[in-house]
Amino acid sequence: MARYTGPVCKLCRREVTKLFLKGTRCLTEKCAVDRRSYPPGQHGQSTGRRRKASEYAKQLREKQKVKRIYGLSEQQFRNLFERVLKEPGVTGEALLVALETRLDNLVYRMGFATSRKQARQLVRHRHILVNGRLVDIPSFHVRAGDEVKVADASRELVLVKVALEQFGRGQPVSWIQVDTDKVLGRMTERPTRDAIPIAAQEQLIVELYSK
Ligand code: SF4
Repeated sequence: MARYTGPVCKLCRREVTKLFLKGTRCLTEKCAVDRRSYPPGQHGQSTGRRRKASEYAKQLREKQKVKRIYGLSEQQFRNLFERVLKEPGVTGEALLVALETRLDNLVYRMGFATSRKQARQLVRHRHILVNGRLVDIPSFHVRAGDEVKVADASRELVLVKVALEQFGRGQPVSWIQVDTDKVLGRMTERPTRDAIPIAAQEQLIVELYSK
C-alpha cells in the first residue's frame, strides 16, 4: 500500500479522535477534530447514528488509529505484528512496545523533531546516530541503554532547533532521558504499557489479526 500523502487532519477526523499527527504543532494550531467531531465525507455527520458498530468495525478502527499514529503502512504494521506474535508475554503490549522503540519514534519522543513524520525524515536523511554510529533506518529497534544523538553537523538544522525550543510541550516519558544541550537522549529501560501514553485498546488489534 502506498504511503498516505493527503491532509493528516482528515485521518484524525476519520477516527474521530486526536491522533496528534502534526506532533507539537497540534497543541498550538486549531484542531480539525475540535471544530468538526464527525468523520469526513458526505455522510460523515450521519455515521454512527445509523447503527451500532460491529465488533469487526471496532477492531478495524483501533488498528487504523494506532497504525496512523505511528505512520506505518498496512504491510509494515502487519509485519511488526507477526514479529511480536513470536515474543513471549502479552502480544498487544509487545506491539505497542515495538512501535515505541522504533528509532523514528524515539527521535520524536526525545524532542529532536516536532512530529514522527519529521523524525522519520531526520533518520532517513542521515542526521541520527545510535551509540555513535549513523543509522538511517526509521524502523531500527532501539534497546534499553542505547544512546540516540543528532549528528554534530546537523545540530544547527532549523528543524531540530525549532523542535528543541518546543521540547516539553509534547509528551515526555519516564523511560527516556534527554540532554538538550548535547542534543542526545538515552532510552533508560524498556517501556511498560503503563508508561506508553497512547490511548489504545491494543487487544482489539490482536483480535482482528487473529481471525
Ligand atoms: Fe489531528 Fe493535530 Fe490535525 Fe488535530 S491538529 S486533527 S490532532 S493532526
